Amino acid sequence: MRLILLGPPGAGKGTQAKLLMKKYNIPQISTGDILRRAVQDDNDLGRKAKTSMDAGSLVPDETVIGLIRERIREADCARGFILDGFPRTEVQAEKLDEMLRELELTIDAVLDFSVDAEELVLRLTGRRTCRECGAMFHVDGRPPKRSGVCDHCDGALYQRPDDNQATITKRMEVYEKETAPLKKYYSQQGNLKTLEGAGDTEQIFSRVCQLVSS
Ligand code: ADP
Ligand code: ZN
Repeated sequence: MRLILLGPPGAGKGTQAKLLMKKYNIPQISTGDILRRAVQDDNDLGRKAKTSMDAGSLVPDETVIGLIRERIREADCARGFILDGFPRTEVQAEKLDEMLRELELTIDAVLDFSVDAEELVLRLTGRRTCRECGAMFHVDGRPPKRSGVCDHCDGALYQRPDDNQATITKRMEVYEKETAPLKKYYSQQGNLKTLEGAGDTEQIFSRVCQLVSS
């Protein structure tokens, strides 16, 4: 099973990707997570990406394409994968198609999460993430049992530096301009499946599963 999760920042792609990963036993490939890890490790990639990420703009296409090119060839991707946050531009989508052709692979579905802008901002500003295991919480919607501590692994929760109002606005603009056109790209390929991304996690997951198996 090979899936692409498409949708604006805060749409719930990461949360649903983690559930899909468990259900189908295939890896979640999140370019955002890979880049954040690189920033934390302060390696070459991280130093290159940090400025763009902090500003809410995109990391250059060649950089993320290179990451994906290597990642999808790893052994754990043989049975499939979930792309979360990639592709994000038409160039990335075209390159991905090229890579898949080379590997003689196809995408089973592109799930497009639709959520209204007001809800997105609420989700992003209240979001807290576990530094250790990546689990996500929300200060109002899905609070951890103990404030600041992950329910699953006791790791420390943190707020992403790009989850502030100014950067969120910028990320939304970038999404509309660069990423939203991919809906048309994939609908022309006949792969696009749009779903309502409002509601609670379990509800959305059942919509996701229905679309994936239809
Ligand atoms: P969100 O979808 O909530 O904005 P992500 O974790 O997917 O968050 O991405 C965070 C940041 O990482 C983006 O704002 C961007 O700077 C960078 N990034 C992630 N994926 C890509 C990509 N495919 N192309 C370019 N930049 C990316
Ligand atoms: Zn954790």
